[in-house]
Amino acid sequence: LLRCRGLRKEFGGHTVLDQLDLTVTEHQVVAVIGASGSGKSTLLRCVNLLEELDDGTIELDGEDISDPRVDPDQVRRRIGMVFQAYNLFPHLSVLDNITLAPRRVHRRGRAEAEAQARELLDRVGLGAKADAYPDRLSGGQQQRVAIVRALANSPRLMLLDEITSALDPELVGEVLSMVRDLKADGMTMVLATHEMGFAREVADEVCFLDAGRVVESGPPEQVLGEPTQPRTRQFLRRII
Ligand code: ATP
Ligand code: MG
Repeated sequence: LLRCRGLRKEFGGHTVLDQLDLTVTEHQVVAVIGASGSGKSTLLRCVNLLEELDDGTIELDGEDISDPRVDPDQVRRRIGMVFQAYNLFPHLSVLDNITLAPRRVHRRGRAEAEAQARELLDRVGLGAKADAYPDRLSGGQQQRVAIVRALANSPRLMLLDEITSALDPELVGEVLSMVRDLKADGMTMVLATHEMGFAREVADEVCFLDAGRVVESGPPEQVLGEPTQPRTRQFLRRII
């Protein structure tokens, strides 16, 4: 579904992604782990065409989306992205946050978009919050709404960038459980995370980045349990 080949990204002469390859098949969940500054967010932002590549190609469903002639909006319609925090528009209700893109970008009618949004909200237990404004929701509820908003575009792929790291510990569970449900529904996802326990549980593949390179990737039991690379071992020792 997604194939990144030889990605290179520099910021002011500093190489942030270096010859990076990543393949994600349909229904697969890939967890990207690595120290702060290793390039996890940059990788996700490149896939969503929020950053311009210095080299390499990205294919989505066989289409080369890194071709400069490709319309980024057309690509982002097929990819849902959720960030660490500050996701929602504060001046819009939950319902309007969710229906904004479906109505503007996908040109769905208000009634249809709102019906779909309410159904998605009901499914995650937030039906009663449809008309609330984001500042009336807990951090965990806000993140769940942000995920619902990304889902409202019926994406092929979800990119989740440390979506629990700004949350109080007691709110992390409800967001992770939503990711678990998405996996059960067969959603293809790439998630950058510091939650090793969750990566081990939910990921089909773990990809360890160090200084913008994939040092090691494979099944979670292998990469997290019996890493072969000294850099991976060092990283895991430091965070556990
Ligand atoms: P974290 O775990 O802290 O979120 P990360 O793995 O997501 O880290 P990135 O945010 O991808 O790391 O950053 C990788 C490197 O690129 C860092 O050295 C960062 O300072 C640099 N960087 C990222 N974005 C920019 C930018 N817009 N301009 C300049 N440098 C940047
Ligand atoms: Mg990051």
